[in-house]
Amino acid sequence: MCGIVGIFGHPEASTLAYLSLYALQHRGQESAGIVTGDASRLHQRAGMGQAADVFSKDVLDQLPGSSAIGHVRYSTAGNSDPTNVQPFLFQHHRGPIAIAHNGNLVNAALLRDELETAGSIFQTTSDTEAILHLTARTQMPDVVDALVEALRRVRGAYSLVLLVPGRLIAVRDPHGFRPLSVGKVDGAWVVASETCAFDLLGAKHIRDLERGEVVVLDVGGLHSFMPFGPVRPAPCFFEHVYFARPDSLLFGESVQLVRKRLGEQLYREHPADVDVVIPVPDSGVVAAMGYAHASGKPFDMGLVRNHYVGRTFIEPTQQIRNFGVRIKLNPVREVLKGKRIALIDDSLVRGTTSRKIVQLCRDAGASEVHMRISCPPTIGPCYYGIDTPLSEELIASSNSVPEICRYISADSLGYLSLEGMLSAAGKERDGVCTACWTDEQPVELPRDQAAQLRLFEKSRR
Ligand code: AMP
Repeated sequence: MCGIVGIFGHPEASTLAYLSLYALQHRGQESAGIVTGDASRLHQRAGMGQAADVFSKDVLDQLPGSSAIGHVRYSTAGNSDPTNVQPFLFQHHRGPIAIAHNGNLVNAALLRDELETAGSIFQTTSDTEAILHLTARTQMPDVVDALVEALRRVRGAYSLVLLVPGRLIAVRDPHGFRPLSVGKVDGAWVVASETCAFDLLGAKHIRDLERGEVVVLDVGGLHSFMPFGPVRPAPCFFEHVYFARPDSLLFGESVQLVRKRLGEQLYREHPADVDVVIPVPDSGVVAAMGYAHASGKPFDMGLVRNHYVGRTFIEPTQQIRNFGVRIKLNPVREVLKGKRIALIDDSLVRGTTSRKIVQLCRDAGASEVHMRISCPPTIGPCYYGIDTPLSEELIASSNSVPEICRYISADSLGYLSLEGMLSAAGKERDGVCTACWTDEQPVELPRDQAAQLRLFEKSRR
């Protein structure tokens, strides 16, 4: 769960990268970084926290050059500490090179073992670093050829931007797990995880990178290569369900429109006889609009989200009921009192939050709570860059829908079917990654894969 950006050929490259990171902030809030470049040198500034915490005008002024790459991080592999803050900037025998990565490599631990045995000294615990070591060891004189050779050894999910003096390289893995788009502003090139970054810059969205495409931007323009053979397509459908911003165009489709259709289909599959449709904000809002539209029932914001919740808060010593969830979400009694509600969220992972939210609604006077989820039961962890817990912690991996319904104390529970979800978006099962719902892996996993997964302790919405 990260956001990446690249700017090539703009006098204010560092500021444009910063603004793009701002637009991609939902993809990661743990750290932010920018590397800029001119014809001979690269310059780096990065730190823990959100883009606005890490960068000030002074800091951006210390980042000269007309090209830049940037990264916002929410760690899925490697510890959450300052050494893992991207973009990484290393010196190798071809000169300086910087990289920013969105995704997760499934064979990173194996590659790291092999490289360390051969003498590589790793400076981070991130899976991304292996790509640079492999690139450095490859004998090809040109860095792009060396990178492509290195990527032939890598398995899993990677959307990448790399910077070397005079060139910016963008890559999307052959399965196309994570998004990456190209745009233009004032004659300069922009690359970003999501098109909402282009909107903020006033940039025009030109196109998405193809699956397996390598794009090189230099003074001669955009050069495109397809060096990898065809493999099964696997764009992550959970990006559409939860992760991407509704105002982005993702894999060629509006996230907002897809999410609304998911909500409409959810109503067709699991209608509820209710007075009002209530979203769990913000993640359930768009699907709830679709559900309300299909049902003809009113939509209302019966829960209000506090957008200013930081990572930690000082808990009161005396127990306050539902304190943890209440700090994020507060019910509007006047909307819920005496009402039968359809409560819509995008996904149900561990079930702990949903259980508290159902209770909040009941405490606020809702007479019936019918929970509806705009994707199928989440049964498998994600090996490709979404921070989903291990199977044991996923409530749907060992409980039936009626059991989950009892656990969250809802009057009824309905999940969108896999077929319904895919048909609402016009997708085929073998055209996207559905691993978190089906446990069907588009990539063969090394046996020690589970050891690479870090549990997610943070609850983010
Ligand atoms: P729970 O079922 O208690 O684990 O929480 C479900 C909520 O977590 C839903 O509102 C989702 O929007 C949200 N969610 C789903 N996936 C993730 C994720 N990878 N990281 C953080 N929150 C998530």
